[in-house]
Amino acid sequence: IYPGSVDAAGRMATLGVMGGGQLGRMFVHAAQRLGYFTAVLEPDAQSPAGLVSHHHIQTAYSDPAGLAQLAELCQAITTEFENVPAQALHTLAQTRPVAPNAAVVGIAQNRIEEKAHFAACADVSGVTCAPYAVIETSAQLQAVQADRTDLLPGILKTARLGYDGKGQVRVKTTEELAAAWAELGNVACVLEKMLPLTAECSVLVARGWDGQVVSFAPQRNVHVAGILAVTHAYEGAMPPALAGRAREAAVAIAQHLGYVGVLCVEFFVVEDGSEHGGLVVNEMAPRPHNSGHYTIDACDASQFDLQVHAMAGLPLPQPRQHSPAIMLNLLGDVWFDANGQPQEPDWQAVLRLPGTHLHLYGKTQARAGRKMGHLTITGPDVATVKTMARRVADLLG
Ligand code: ADP
Ligand code: MG
Repeated sequence: IYPGSVDAAGRMATLGVMGGGQLGRMFVHAAQRLGYFTAVLEPDAQSPAGLVSHHHIQTAYSDPAGLAQLAELCQAITTEFENVPAQALHTLAQTRPVAPNAAVVGIAQNRIEEKAHFAACADVSGVTCAPYAVIETSAQLQAVQADRTDLLPGILKTARLGYDGKGQVRVKTTEELAAAWAELGNVACVLEKMLPLTAECSVLVARGWDGQVVSFAPQRNVHVAGILAVTHAYEGAMPPALAGRAREAAVAIAQHLGYVGVLCVEFFVVEDGSEHGGLVVNEMAPRPHNSGHYTIDACDASQFDLQVHAMAGLPLPQPRQHSPAIMLNLLGDVWFDANGQPQEPDWQAVLRLPGTHLHLYGKTQARAGRKMGHLTITGPDVATVKTMARRVADLLG
């Protein structure tokens, strides 16, 4: 699908995205820079991506008329959030190339299937996930209570619809486990053993229709209260041997899925000497990821550029990181002072510092824990970037 090409009816080549959040917004920006028109399907009238797209189809994700309109407007379609109904992607795929496809998105939407996939390709990826058990019925709950106390203390996670630490309960005893399952609504869950994490990292992989694969070096992620807070992306952010293994594992996982588009694979780093050899695969996101936002400012091709290239069948250049970077998420909390009173962050002071790149997502309502934007700090060397990141963090409280 050639960027800037015009069809017989005079319409510019158009790329579509299911979902209107910030990931969709940055995808739209990348597509538009190449000359594509864009279409966003998103029910919310004021969504970050809908606000900046040429076309905004404002219907439910599974609305047949909305999907038909998206397919009619676009030459290829992607998704920006994984809980878009896989059936909707399946419908779109009847008439248009859809990347990633409904099958792989379906796997990533369900922790049970996701873990089964990780297990199925453990031989080639060289990594396994944390010990776990599936709890879908009260019989399974009782069996786990009786036979799998090795998983305690653990984390009970809903199989579907969890994100940013939501849909998870930490449990220490079999009684707490039963209470947690009830609290989560007795829905399908996995109980995962709590691991002693020394770090977390993620790897972004892009794979084309022809099987060509490129990847970014692993970045180290710091979560606070289950939400990504900081991403460290520079040489030395991860021990080189682990970084190499994580990168190879992520590529193997993408290949084994026959994945097309950008995939993010999250890993845990656990204390040395464990049975996992230090690296455990956690989960995957079938789309660009918050931990890859630094690629916009620190690399010669961003994760969103690669998503555009992959879905449109353009070449996938191996991205090169030209600057060390630290990304700070800007949650709604920054828009409130210590007394909970609304305040405007001091962007004057932040932007005066060299190498600060501010990205706000166009959300008008700040709420605690809501992702409002992010800041990437780049610089000539790691020490400078770390110093600037500390100063920015101090300025934002
Ligand atoms: P989400 O879909 O919310 O990102 P995750 O499974 O990635 O769910 O869990 C969120 C965070 O909780 C992780 O990034 C990690 O910090 C912590 N966590 C999750 N599972 C475990 C585990 N088995 N052991 C230790 N920490 C965990
Ligand atoms: Mg996660």
